This record gives sequence, C-alpha cells and structure tokens, in this order.
Amino acid sequence: IKIKITKIDIPVSYASAFEGEIIRKADMQIEADGSRVDCFEFVQMKDLNEVEDHKITVVGKDFDEFEVGEKISMGIIAHVAGKAMQSDFESVFERKFHSFLNCIEGLMHTGQRDLIRVRVSKDTFNQGFRAKHIGEVIYAKLKSEYDTVIDKCEVFVYTDADQVNDLRHNLVIPTFNARDARIGNMTDESVDEFYTCILCQAFSPSHVCIVTPERLGLCGAVSWLDAKATHELQPNGPSQIVRKDHCIDEVVGRYEEVDEAVKKYSQGALEHVTLYSIMEDPMTSCGCFECICGIEPMSNGVVIVNREHVGMTPIGMTFSELASMTGGGVQTPGFMGHGKHFIASKKFMKAEGGLERLVWLPKKLKDEVADAINKTAKELYNIDNFADMIADETIAEDGETLFNFLTEKGHPALNMEPMM
Ligand code: SF4
Ligand code: ZN
Repeated sequence: IKIKITKIDIPVSYASAFEGEIIRKADMQIEADGSRVDCFEFVQMKDLNEVEDHKITVVGKDFDEFEVGEKISMGIIAHVAGKAMQSDFESVFERKFHSFLNCIEGLMHTGQRDLIRVRVSKDTFNQGFRAKHIGEVIYAKLKSEYDTVIDKCEVFVYTDADQVNDLRHNLVIPTFNARDARIGNMTDESVDEFYTCILCQAFSPSHVCIVTPERLGLCGAVSWLDAKATHELQPNGPSQIVRKDHCIDEVVGRYEEVDEAVKKYSQGALEHVTLYSIMEDPMTSCGCFECICGIEPMSNGVVIVNREHVGMTPIGMTFSELASMTGGGVQTPGFMGHGKHFIASKKFMKAEGGLERLVWLPKKLKDEVADAINKTAKELYNIDNFADMIADETIAEDGETLFNFLTEKGHPALNMEPMM
C-alpha cells in the first residue's frame, strides 16, 4: 500500500519561496561545510525487507548539543526500496536533496555529494528544528515525488565526526567512484542524444547544463547516465533530450539542437553554447561547480582550482574570487565551472587544444586525477607522466614562478597558439 505524503512534520514552514534564502554567519546556529570537514549526502537502494519505512535515525549529537555557530560534520543517508527501483536512480534522488532541503525555512543547502554545505539559522533552531527534521523532509519529499518507484524509505542523519569520516571513505566515495566509472569509455560520438539539466534554475534562472557522456554536469553529480535516468523518471522534468543530428562545428562542439535547447530552457537568455570551448560561447556556470578553469595569460595555458582549495592561484585569484566572476548563469569567456571528471576528458576544452593547456592544479586535486590525466595525455599527445609537468601550490603561486617551472619542464602550452 502506498501512502501519499501531504504534510511534512517539521516545526518551521516549508515552501519553494525559501529556496534562495541566504543564512549569514551571524545568524547561523550550526554549519556543516563539506569543503572543510567530512560531510556527504547519499542514497542507497536496498531490498524491501531491509528498509523500515519512515524510520529516522540520528547518530551522534543533536543540534542542541553543539555550541552556537559550531562547524559540524554531517552525513545524510537515505535507504530506498521498491519493486520498480533501479540503482541508476540513486544519484538522481540524491541530487534532489539540494532543493528538498532548501525549501525549509531557515535552512541553506549548497553543493552535492561530499561537498555539501548546510546552515541552520538560529530562528529555525529556536523553533525546535533538530537533526531528525532533515530526515523527515528527505523522507516526505522522496516518497511524494517518486512514489512510482519508492515504496519504502528510511533516513539516517549522522553528526558524529568519526562515523561520518568512516562512512565517507569506506562507503560513499567508493560508491561515487563506481558510479563515475560506469560511464567508462562511452564517447559523445557513440550516442544519438545529449540531455539538458536545469535543476539549478532555482538559483541561476538562466543556467542550462548540457550533459554528454564525455562532459558531466559541472556539479560533478549528474552524468549522462544520470540525466538519462532523470528523464525516464520524469519525462517532463529537468532533463530533456537534445538530439545531435545537426552538427555545425565538430571542433568547438556546436550543434543546432544544443543552441535550440539552451535558448528554450534559458528563456531566451542564451542563444549559443559550445560543448568543447572555453573561449567561444562557453557553457554557463551556476554556482555549484566542483572546479573552475581559468586562462593564465603568461603561460598561454589554464589553471584549474577546486572548491576545497583555499589558497591563491597563479592568476592572482582564489577559488571564491573566481567563483564570484564565473557563476550566475552568464557566459564568461576564458573562465568556466566544471566537474572534476571533466579534467581528464578528451573533450576538455578540445577547441583550444585540450588538456595540454593545463599548467596548474592544487596538489591534492592533482594527486587525485594524476592517473586519469596521464592516460589521456598519453593517448592524445603521446606525453608520458604529464602530471609531472603541471605545477601546484607547492611549486608556484604566482605567474612568474609558474612560467619558470613550465619552461624548465618544457610544458607544451608554452609553444601553443595564444588563446586570446
Ligand atoms: Fe544539473 Fe548542472 Fe545543476 Fe548539476 S550543475 S544539478 S547538471 S544544472
Ligand atoms: Zn548549480
């Protein structure tokens, strides 16, 4: 028997009007910031007999046991089961947590996967909002929006830092990696259609992601397979099919149908978007990009910085400074938000020469993607150990030191055509 949920049992209001609400530092009771401490949100499919419907479990201290303004770890796990459920839907449901939680009065949610940030306001806390209410909202929204596939749902909210750390490293990240690997060797050429994603229009009204097998959404949480699953679940939802019958320019990735789609779904704000260029009509960025890529004029290359990196980049701007000029759904040639997995894609700014232009990455990110970029660089340019030619913050934090390092390494970007 399916029960249609109509009311959500929380002590504050719930409406889409609260979606864009900003909670300032001074007004927050607690904050969970995944770029600084362990945090995640996660959906896992289970067998029907493994899930106790509507059970909400809080593991760790509740919000009233933390100091005012304390930065806490938070992990949210939803177990879902149903006869029509498929594991492909897990990531689709997970990506919806963002809008589900943002509709809570006095709660701000940004990001996705293990890069979420959640703030709960003092007012909302004072009205009695506690950790279990996060579970109530996830439960109610998943059950009501996806009642055709979810028969049972159980939610766990972890605030215990050790457990969040353990789950993040032993369950969540390995699952994310396995999901990302599913797309494997699929290429843009091997499919007949791309997909739109307009989930982020609540915050960036004109933003449209075009998701292809070799270019995942800039949040890093929506692959082509996810967009396809989203379309199957909700044929009139945020992911619509974009045929690719009429290619205008293969190098920059310009298609008639892509232009039509961005025009339609940006309500006319955008006319042209290319898939593979950072200079010519680049794809727009909302606010949840995992990384930002920006042009570095001295070396003729680009730097990439991820959200977790707080330090300076050789272009004289930090991640947050770059984010403020890149986001908001406008086109900013020379700067682009993107997912981590796009870095090693053969389509990564292919129009400007591709991965070969990459001159700087934060060390941690470089270590994370080294194998993948070495593989791509070998296949595309026959370069061995390309990651070793790329600088990081331990090598250079300014343009001149960077240039000297690249010269010493004989980095290919130095001899490429100017980007501007
Ligand atoms: Fe969708 Fe793009 Fe937003 Fe990710 S960043 S949820 S792909 S619109
Ligand atoms: Zn976004």
